[in-house]
Amino acid sequence: MDLALDSRAVHAGRDDLRALGVHALPLDLSSTNPLPGVESGGTSYEAMATGGHPTDGGNVYARLWNPTVARFEAALAALEHTEEAVAFSSGMAALTAAVLAARTERGGAHVVAVRPLYGGTDHLLASGLLGVDVTFCAPAEVATSVRDDTCLVVLETPANPTLELVDIAAVVRAAQGRPLLVDNTFATPVLQNPALHGATLVLHSATKYLGGHGDAVGGVVAGDAAWAAALRRVRAVTGGILHPMAAYLLHRGLPTLPLRVRAQQASAEKMAGWLGGYPAVRRVFFPGTPEGDPAGLVGRQMRGPGAMLAIALHGGHDHAARVTERVRLFTHAVSLGGVDSLVQHPAALTHRPVAPGARPSSDILRLSIGLEDVGDLQQDLAHALG
Ligand SMILES: *Cc1c(COP(=O)(O)O)cnc(C)c1O
Repeated sequence: MDLALDSRAVHAGRDDLRALGVHALPLDLSSTNPLPGVESGGTSYEAMATGGHPTDGGNVYARLWNPTVARFEAALAALEHTEEAVAFSSGMAALTAAVLAARTERGGAHVVAVRPLYGGTDHLLASGLLGVDVTFCAPAEVATSVRDDTCLVVLETPANPTLELVDIAAVVRAAQGRPLLVDNTFATPVLQNPALHGATLVLHSATKYLGGHGDAVGGVVAGDAAWAAALRRVRAVTGGILHPMAAYLLHRGLPTLPLRVRAQQASAEKMAGWLGGYPAVRRVFFPGTPEGDPAGLVGRQMRGPGAMLAIALHGGHDHAARVTERVRLFTHAVSLGGVDSLVQHPAALTHRPVAPGARPSSDILRLSIGLEDVGDLQQDLAHALG
């Protein structure tokens, strides 16, 4: 049965529960597992260490396989319309594994990174830690930035923190056959499925909307079976698997993901309109406005503008800093996508490690709109903005 998004969000990754005789997600915290025999255990171990699934020798060891994690992965693959997904201990661990898998799969050590990107992503790629040569470029420069040894193109849309939208299909064409990874953290599978537009890999910081309750850190990469095997191989060897407790919490959050995202988006639309007419606000960055979506990608690539927005203030850095100190209902904190609203200053925090020329301007605040009453959120910001 080909289920609609909302039904998938509720039921995906739960296929084996009936046979287990349980209704809620089981949480398996075993770090090791009894082996049925030396040979079968060894065969299963080898299958998983090379990226495969466990055989009749069982799950062997929790760095290789965990059923609670595997259920969350199956759910993510179903939501992203990919064959499989592989879950990691954080979004950054997921990105690290994707770059290492691309290097080994493609045999090149050059990455094209389309700016703007999440500060941590920009930082990791610029650091040289992964042993890849990175060319940072604008979306329109991908075709001239790719090389014969390019193993991966990295893209984020909507981009962090100013919510620029990038045409995924256009970047796929410009990449001319090189694999494309799209960070879909801001859009979530509710609003955008990059694989349906030609992306090879879809990455999420599951810490954000997927979990939605601010109590679990995780990352996931969705893709075809061959890429999933390459990612699991890196994960088995380097040890970045998601903890089962986090997998349980993240999977538990998925049934309400469509409801949460749509409700938060409806409030963000109201907030963007209200802030657009607010005297202290110089500019609103939101894909739901005509200026925020010049290429008309909302409706074509995204099913809605999302629930993240940014504002630039006439009062500059000092006013922005003051707002973070004066909010009461919003929390001044990094991260995003949870049930409660957050505000943060990208230039000073999430984007601090980004090269000065690519750093967002210091009069900008990023808002993650939660599930509070929108009137209360407006009252809080009005007080904080002065
Ligand atoms: C938070 C975030 C990441 C990193 O994920 P962690 O779970 O914090 O490691 C990557 N990309 C985007 C867009 C993010 O917001």
